Amino acid sequence: MSDLILIIEDEPKIAKLARDYLERYGYRVLTAADGPTGLAAARRESPDLVLLDLLLPGIDGREVCRRLRADSAVPIIMLTALAEESDQIVGLELGADDYITKPFSPGVLVARVRAALRRVQGDVHDTATLRSGDLVIDPAAHSATLAGRPVHLTPNEFKLLVALARRPGQTLTREQLLDELHGAALGGVDRSVDSHVKNLRRKLERDPDRPLIETVYGVGYRLVEPE
Ligand code: CA
Repeated sequence: MSDLILIIEDEPKIAKLARDYLERYGYRVLTAADGPTGLAAARRESPDLVLLDLLLPGIDGREVCRRLRADSAVPIIMLTALAEESDQIVGLELGADDYITKPFSPGVLVARVRAALRRVQGDVHDTATLRSGDLVIDPAAHSATLAGRPVHLTPNEFKLLVALARRPGQTLTREQLLDELHGAALGGVDRSVDSHVKNLRRKLERDPDRPLIETVYGVGYRLVEPE
């Protein structure tokens, strides 16, 4: 399944332009025209990347960025009409990964989106297939199946699952898992591990009495070895 991009932009022309180009390059695209709708879509759909306008009705882009970052490590690219360096720096300080100044060329947009996704997805080095019960993970293909059915995971969920599956039965601390996600942790992101694990459980666990990922209270998480 191709990556899902959420565009939060109130100018219909720009949203349409971005959507058309990203779709042409094979991405799936969702759009939202104001801050509250965008935040709700981000929580509901777990996009692989968010393109976020700075000046938005409802809740502005800075606040949307801050709230997304409070519980998610999704790559965020800020769209700014303002060529002011201070706005770009504010975006990065709030945890955005990159910014694009409007008007932008479609080629630049696609290149930046690809680069941001590659930074998140690209460092799954070891490509050996991992198995745990009927869960099969193929790091090279960036895919996972459960009992033969594909499981759709975001890049960060996939990274965490690979990290846990490489050390079955071993507890990984939140810090170790954050390291897998970011290399270096930014302030405010440490709850992101919990939210990714919650999503992984929702996607992978059929029977609540037989958890796949166990919480080790006060420490972190571990993948349960199947009997
Ligand atoms: Ca705007």
